[in-house]
Amino acid sequence: MAWFRKDRRPRTSQRERLEIPADVWDKCEECGHVDVREKFERGYGVCPSCGHHRRVDVTQYIALLTDEGSWAPLNQGLRSVDALGFEHYRDRLAAAVKKAGREDAVRTGTATLEGEPIALAVMDFKFMGGSMGSVVGEKIVRIAQRALEARMPLIIVSASGGARMQEGVLSLMQLAKTSVVIAAMRAQGVPFISVLTDPTTGGVSASYAFQGDVIIAEPGAVIGFAGARVIKQTIGQDLPEGFQTAEFLLEHGMIDAVVPRSRLGPTCAQLVRMLLGREPPQTERVS
Ligand SMILES: [Zn+2]
Repeated sequence: MAWFRKDRRPRTSQRERLEIPADVWDKCEECGHVDVREKFERGYGVCPSCGHHRRVDVTQYIALLTDEGSWAPLNQGLRSVDALGFEHYRDRLAAAVKKAGREDAVRTGTATLEGEPIALAVMDFKFMGGSMGSVVGEKIVRIAQRALEARMPLIIVSASGGARMQEGVLSLMQLAKTSVVIAAMRAQGVPFISVLTDPTTGGVSASYAFQGDVIIAEPGAVIGFAGARVIKQTIGQDLPEGFQTAEFLLEHGMIDAVVPRSRLGPTCAQLVRMLLGREPPQTERVS
């Protein structure tokens, strides 16, 4: 039985092995679709198969909503303080600054969008859940005041779990404080476009996020005030399917449009022109 004992020669491949690093691939957490990471990145964090919108970094929204090289950040030095001596707040703040690489949960600045000057604020969910404390409130007020002075439209991209617990009543005050400046904008006819992303809840949804002249949201974004479980326990009833999603809110007249991330820039630019009474650009005009 010699052939059973035949020495096996190790098989050598004629072709050179194609080395694909593991991190080239990415998987959609919604539908399980696997694709090259670059495809997700080029689509601004949107799944190429099911269109699921991932949470993306603040810098992505700034890139989407400003002309290249036009972004000028404002009030970057504002820092939260532990005014109430809340347990562990100092440590949590320090950790959040380190993790997010920025000072608080919102970035504000001025820029142009398709050539039109705008004021822009983008909230950062990575920084303590995008919670609104004194700094977030103050920065929103300052950017809104800048928009008022220059009579330029304000766009706020919201992403927030609500008011920041560790600043207690000081956080709650920000609801009134931001609402006052948004009311002044409305009184003086300076446009405000509110963009809701996943998630926009609590104190932010109860103040400026829902005070826009136009309110748009990203597909699938969770938007609401209190969490579904809390509401269910309070009213003692089952909640409808898809409740607290952008699509549900659109259907019930709470928001004006659901806009995919890739269309945010052109949509906001068009809204800015419409609200300022500008002529549409030549290329868009129907002859
Ligand atoms: Zn997917």
